[in-house]
Amino acid sequence: MRTADKFKEKTVFSLEVFPPKPDADESVIYNTLEQLSDIKPDFISVTYGAGGGKNGCRTIKIASKIENEYGIDSVAHLPCIGLTKEQAGEILDNIKLSGIENVLALRGDIPEESCVCGDFRHADELVSFIKGNYDLNVIAACYPETHPESKDVVDDIKRLRHKVDCGVDHLITQLFLDNRFFYDFYEKTQLAGIDVPIEAGIMPVTNKRQIERMVKLCGVQLPDKFVKILDRYGDDEEALRDAGIAYAVDQITDLIAQGVAGIHLYTMNNSFIAHRIHDAVQNLIK
Ligand code: FAD
Repeated sequence: MRTADKFKEKTVFSLEVFPPKPDADESVIYNTLEQLSDIKPDFISVTYGAGGGKNGCRTIKIASKIENEYGIDSVAHLPCIGLTKEQAGEILDNIKLSGIENVLALRGDIPEESCVCGDFRHADELVSFIKGNYDLNVIAACYPETHPESKDVVDDIKRLRHKVDCGVDHLITQLFLDNRFFYDFYEKTQLAGIDVPIEAGIMPVTNKRQIERMVKLCGVQLPDKFVKILDRYGDDEEALRDAGIAYAVDQITDLIAQGVAGIHLYTMNNSFIAHRIHDAVQNLIK
């Protein structure tokens, strides 16, 4: 089923997983999926390492298993940086042949030492390419705290509106730790006439290294409330895990109360944490 149709029925609750590294044991992800399937999420999305390579084969294989063996709708991520139209077409043919109906069309991060080669400069071009050639539901990314490369918030929203006009059916946000960023961003999207469902991306932060990486990579701001949690529990693995889960549950509860279209949980392939969060909010997403 196409993800965009799910928002008509209920508050969507979906999950993200990533494929194991090319040299790692593949069976681990299937054990994780087995456990995640009990949650009965509305869909599971599978990330794809930008720049192509073997990781992409695993993305489609895993998304196909989610769809065809676990009976859960799946989304294959597709970053277009460095791809020619022919290469993108081969991947999309494979996605279609695997029975997957949903693609998350991304640009991907530009590698530091190499030039931007390939036929796509931005995700909007990939969205147009997919919509022009394939009957697929297209999802795209958006940024409540503004994409780090954007000139300013006005430009970011203008680009987002254009990307949606190219054929995006549903948006998923970058993680954020302060819901006020989401509400401000959402208001701007409505003023800009962006009328597709926007799912809030929530990442339960359960270890210090993970959050340091996120701050550096995504420019996510740490609210005072969160810094206090890190200061108090940062050196106690179990306490920080529990505090991170409680923080995510609090964020989700507030978002649902404010009428968010859906919650996309960045599971980091941790089914224990995903279950704990789902258990706490399952009656809110019926
Ligand atoms: P774009 O939409 O192209 O935007 C990037 C920047 O360019 C923004 O500043 C935007 O305002 C600007 N821009 C957009 N269009 C134009 C234009 N036409 N002209 C000029 N400027 C423009 N990365 C991966 O490699 N693999 C994944 O699986 C993956 N999954 C993700 C899932 C989600 C939900 C999110 C939020 C991000 C994910 N990413 C993934 C990271 C993503 O690839 C990076 O954030 C990347 O830097 C931007 O991708 P984008 O699709 O948002 O790019």
